[in-house]
Amino acid sequence: MKEDYYEVLGISKSASAAEIKKAYRKKALKYHPDKNPGDSSAEELFKKSAEAYEVLSDADKKARYDQFGHAAFEGGSGGFGGGGMNMDDIFSQFGDIFGGAFGGGGFGGFGGGGGQRRVKGSNLRIRVTLTLEEIANGVEKKVKVRRKVQAEGVTYKTCSTCGGRGQVTKIQNTILGRMQTAAVCTSCGGSGQILDGKPGDADAQGLKVVEETVSINIPAGVEEGMQLKVPNKGNDAPGNGIPGDLLVAIETQEHSTLKREGDNLHYDLYVSISEAVLGTSKEIDSVGGKVRIKLEPGIQSGKILRLRGKGITSLNGYGAGDILVHVNVWTPKELNKEQREFFEKMQGNDNFEPKPEKSDKSFFEKVKDMFS
Ligand SMILES: [Zn+2]
Repeated sequence: MKEDYYEVLGISKSASAAEIKKAYRKKALKYHPDKNPGDSSAEELFKKSAEAYEVLSDADKKARYDQFGHAAFEGGSGGFGGGGMNMDDIFSQFGDIFGGAFGGGGFGGFGGGGGQRRVKGSNLRIRVTLTLEEIANGVEKKVKVRRKVQAEGVTYKTCSTCGGRGQVTKIQNTILGRMQTAAVCTSCGGSGQILDGKPGDADAQGLKVVEETVSINIPAGVEEGMQLKVPNKGNDAPGNGIPGDLLVAIETQEHSTLKREGDNLHYDLYVSISEAVLGTSKEIDSVGGKVRIKLEPGIQSGKILRLRGKGITSLNGYGAGDILVHVNVWTPKELNKEQREFFEKMQGNDNFEPKPEKSDKSFFEKVKDMFS
């Protein structure tokens, strides 16, 4: 059983974003590997706190965690994982959390346990717009991305400032006595290497921009505003670093007839009075193309027909939603003489008198049922 993220950070479920950040800073400082060398239980707590913060600091992930608990991040929809953060991920968060306190500029963070850490390239962000059909079953999108990659012919040499260790040690006199602190080497940005030679088309870091086609696997059931991560498809880092990530923001296109609500879809169907009286069959839109449905003679306006499993496949992989077809009987606004006479004749006719049965639930009861 995984521990509750709120308990890991020692905060209440109503904690504000600022309180969450503050609680994480405290934990990260307490369990930081530099402060607890060789202590694997501290490292475990350090990782757990980072994972809890990763989820609770992201509005979408937090909402899903609040609703589904840890199950929200299981089921193989890659890129959404709250779990499995490595040290590089954790340290790359630190720029946001601690500001400049730990130095290192764009290559935020400090060495894990004294060892040289690999510098991570910057992340790239793109937006992808999806149709309802693409969201319903998931889709593979190919996008063109302009990313920085290491230019051919670039050479590096060992950084002379840090001797290739990537960090420098400083002795500081503080009120607590002399303290030894390790800081990222500012000459090489922590990589331990500096540029030696580069071709003319490379920038100061030995990188150049190329256009690359990246394939993104988008799981079914994503929603507007969610963010997917494609690892290593951001900008390359100079030297022996690892590439940043490509962050994909999801945007959704409205469908002309189907309205989404969670994993369910709503469809408004209009039928004429004679179709309602005599029964009919109608084609409606679904995410898998047109579907024909049958309406029994005497169908009432306001009836909701449920097409099970024809909605959106759940992001968590637990089945799919339904299409709810709302039947609306269209009352003619104008009648010719003959039609008017017909309806006048039917006035007071027993077959035309409303006789709602228990099974003809009122609109409000149906809505109540739908959400229960
Ligand atoms: Zn250096």
